[in-house]
Amino acid sequence: MEAFSLNPPKWTESAVHAFQFCCPKCGATSMEATAVWINRRSPVYTENRRRKWQEFYHCECGYIWWAWSSDRPPSKYARESQDIAEENEDDLDGLDLDLD
Ligand SMILES: [Zn+2]
Repeated sequence: MEAFSLNPPKWTESAVHAFQFCCPKCGATSMEATAVWINRRSPVYTENRRRKWQEFYHCECGYIWWAWSSDRPPSKYARESQDIAEENEDDLDGLDLDLD
């Protein structure tokens, strides 16, 4: 699944930081993006000791934007994908050990 691949897809290079969790150009939500990539390799620690990371979205309108995972509005679906991400993180940690 591309969303959790370790290396950024080419299209993320031209991403623009969106300060609200939707496409700055057309206002579409992340659920409508045609491609997603989550930068799990470089988490940032917030003041609450929670981690956040960059989430890149390729909008259906062609615009490419990214936002912090912590800015994602809470929803049933967001929480579920967060849980999946946490589980995948364990896999990634194991992968790091193997590689080192
Ligand atoms: Zn858009």
